[in-house]
Parts: sequence; C-alpha cells; structure tokens
Amino acid sequence: MTVERQQLIEEVRRTGTLAGLPRGHFIAGRFVASASGREMESFDPGSGKPFAKVAAGDAEDVDRAVAAARSALSGPWSRLSPAARGEILMRASRLIAECAARFAVVETLDSGKRLSEAEGDVAGVVRAFAYYAGAADKLHGDSMPLGPDHVGLTIEEPVGVAAQIVPWNYPLSTAARGIAPALAAGCTLVVKPAEQTPFTTLMLAELLHQAGLPDGVLNVVAGTGPEAGAALVAHPGIDHITFTGSVATGQRVMRAAAEHVTRLVLELGGKSPVVVLADCDLDAAVDGVMEAIFENAGQICSAGSRLVVEEAIAQPLLDRLVGRAQALRPGHGLSDAGIGPINSPAQLARVAAHVDRARAAGNRILTGGAVVPPEECGGGWFYRPTIVLARDTADPLVQKEIFGPVLTVQIVPDFEAAVAAANATSYALVAGIYTRDHARAWRFARTVDAGQIYINEFFAGGVAMPFGGNRKSGFGRAKGMAGLRSYCKLKSVVARI
Ligand code: ADP
Repeated sequence: MTVERQQLIEEVRRTGTLAGLPRGHFIAGRFVASASGREMESFDPGSGKPFAKVAAGDAEDVDRAVAAARSALSGPWSRLSPAARGEILMRASRLIAECAARFAVVETLDSGKRLSEAEGDVAGVVRAFAYYAGAADKLHGDSMPLGPDHVGLTIEEPVGVAAQIVPWNYPLSTAARGIAPALAAGCTLVVKPAEQTPFTTLMLAELLHQAGLPDGVLNVVAGTGPEAGAALVAHPGIDHITFTGSVATGQRVMRAAAEHVTRLVLELGGKSPVVVLADCDLDAAVDGVMEAIFENAGQICSAGSRLVVEEAIAQPLLDRLVGRAQALRPGHGLSDAGIGPINSPAQLARVAAHVDRARAAGNRILTGGAVVPPEECGGGWFYRPTIVLARDTADPLVQKEIFGPVLTVQIVPDFEAAVAAANATSYALVAGIYTRDHARAWRFARTVDAGQIYINEFFAGGVAMPFGGNRKSGFGRAKGMAGLRSYCKLKSVVARI
C-alpha cells in the first residue's frame, strides 16, 4: 500500500496527473463518450491546474443511463437473492480495500483534500460496503396480529431506479453511502457526481462491475448540474432521488421532483454549533473544535462552524484555537500539509466574500480572514484558517453557511443561553457539546434540534449511525438501517384465511 501510494504521488508530482483515469460515462456496464462528444476539464485545486478531461453529459446521456437502469431492474439483478446481492457488495468492499491507495490519491487530486483525509474516506467506504453487504439479507418487514381470520405482513421492496446527485466535498464517500444501501435493497442507479469531482465515482462503478454487478445496475453520468443533474432529477424514469448539496439547488431539485411525484431525500447545508461549557476537558474541546471546522478546509455540510462558548472559559479556549489555527500551514493535499485547498475558485471567492462582508459589518477577525497568495502555496486555491468573533446572532456570519475554514464565535453566559444559541439558525444538521456534566449533555441532546448530536467527540459515529438533517438542512436519512429503508417501498399484504 505505502509503496504504491508513494509511486502514485511521484507520478502526480512528475506529470501533474495520473495515467488511466476514466474518461467516459459508465452506462450499461462500460465507459462511453457523451452523445454530444463534449468533454470538460478537471482541475487540481492544490495547484489550480487542469489534470484530466472527462465526458460532459446532458439529457441524452441521462436518457441512455436511465433506460439502462430501468431495463436492469427486470434483468438478472432482480432474480438474485438478497444474500447474493450482499456477496457482490462484500467483494466490492474487498476490491476497494485493495485499490485504496489509488482511490485516495485520485480523490485528493480531484477534490483537493489532504491525503490522510482521503484515506480515511476510502476506509469509510470499505466499511460502508461491508456494512450493507451484511444488511442485504436482513431487510425484513413485520407481521401484524389481525386476529384469527387474517394474516397481515409488510414487505420491503426496492424503490426502483434511484438517482443520486453527489457534491464535490466528499465525492466517493457520499456516492458510496447512497450506492451501497440502494444496491443492498435491490435498486438500480443513475449517479451524477459533481462536475468538479467525477473520477472516484466512475472508478467505483467500474470496480462494482468487476465485483459482479450486472450491466446497467449502476450507471454514472458525468456532467454539470444544469445540464446532466437537472435532466436526471426531472426524468420520469426515476423512482427516487437522493440529493446532497446546497439549499438553493436542493429547492430546485424538490420542485423538479414534484412534477412526477418522485420520492426524495435531501441532505442540505448546516451551520452547526459546537458548544463548549466551562467544565469541559479543554484539550479534548480544542481538538474537537479544530477538527469540526478545519477538516476538509471546512467544506463539510456537518462542519462545526459555530463555536458557542461559555464566557468563563472563552479566553483560554480562543487563545489556544487561534494559536492552533495559525500553525496550520496550507499546502497541496498530497503533501498532507496542515490545511488543504478550497475546491474551486468560485467557492474560494464565496468564502472570501462572506468574511469580507463580516469584517466590514464590524465582526472581529481573530485570525485569518484572507486568501492565501498563490505564490505561497504552489498556485492552488487556499483560504487562511479563520476565526471570527461574531457581533450578534442575527449577523449573516452566524446565520449563513460559508462552507470554508471559517469559525464564528458566540460567547454566552451559561448553559441555557448556549442551548438557545445552538437552536438559533434555520439549519438543524448536527450539534456538538463538550462538557463533563452528563445531565447537561443529555439535556442538550434532547432540546437541540439536529439530525445528530455529538457529545465530547465531534463527527463521532460511522456508517451504522443514521445521518441527515431537519428544517433547512433537509429531510430523510442516509447511513444505518434507516439509510437502507430509504431505498425501499413498504407493501402491506393482508390475507383472509
Ligand atoms: P455548489 O453550488 O457548491 O456546486 P450544488 O448544490 O449546486 O453545490 O451542487 C451539488 C450537486 O448538485 C452537484 O452534483 C451539481 O452538479 C448538482 N446540481 C447543480 N444544479 C443542479 C440542478 N439544477 N439539478 C440537479 N442537480 C444539480
């Protein structure tokens, strides 16, 4: 693994790219060019340079992919037992583990993220396929006690063709956490990776095929949101949509889904609080807050982007956080520097605009607050790790998702004020708390509106824990058995005997 990893890194250093990257869509079991023949360029965020071309799909390619997925629904796939589907997923899990170095290096090249984070993502994907491999034959309904003259039971049936719209921040992980349960449930799929990060999803499709997936069960169409994504979510041939991305695009997807009454899971943004109480283990809280906001340079829907700290501990905590943030050196993801790049120049400009506005409005920048000059970081797209003391709760800095390495700080007098601050945005994705007082931690867990609560460890959990949001953060759950059931339609059967 490490020798291969080193060779791949050397190849990127030498050539700026990797040989053998997929170039076409993956439809009906093979790579194909776009019907239009068009391609788009992919950029390495760590250097700002293009490194490969990939097919740019549109409605015609989506049509082909949906047709392949529909016909695969009634093909050999539909006759496999759940246990046999599980075996394919388990083989896939092992194959991904064997190719882990390549997946991780490609993910870093395409998304920009630090290599160690990409390796963590790949390990999570190996685990996700193993988890759903084991779940495939444990997806059972209930039987209902209807009295002596009837038998009533429920059957979990695959929902049909599932569409996945995947974002650029966790390309492989997000694709996998939709693909694995959908396959375990017996669905077929059309996946549209983000235009910025198509490669690992295309690699995964080819690998699943090697693991034994019949042709057409998993199709991937590369392309932009307006051209390929919009065509996919509006397609009458799909039965379910899982969308992960921004609120504005999620709303568009929801409108498109309404046309054909297509089922929908929306995983949207967040502005998640990390509450630190005065009685916490300060070392653990510092580590937790740093990871919550600077992992993947803050480009995480569930980032802990709002620090809500009890006044009594605010100064020592902020001193340490500022020191740690200043020590994070920006650098190419493959060098595994302190902090990686922002995925695109457009996103970098968005992050900078948020902070510039906040500064002008009188919020106090404690550290960072600037784009890193390209000459300092090899031409890539970097933003300095930033901590800002918020003026008040209503400020857009506190209310809006920034999706970058920007932590806002709210200082509160006590626990009750911390709970109120935690609930004071329109998002409800995750919320974390650091305290030694377990009664308060549990009170926090019960009174804060969020899809998941982390007590004394941010991002704790894994594939077994359902994940999703409330309010503007969306609805429906990925991961866990709840994630599997989102790819099923429940049928009730009652017999008179
Ligand atoms: P961002 O603006 O940060 O790129 P988006 O939420 O727009 O985030 O993108 C998430 C995913 O949604 C990407 O795969 C993108 O191509 C896709 N997408 C963008 N616009 C649409 C749309 N109108 N319909 C369906 N998918 C879209």
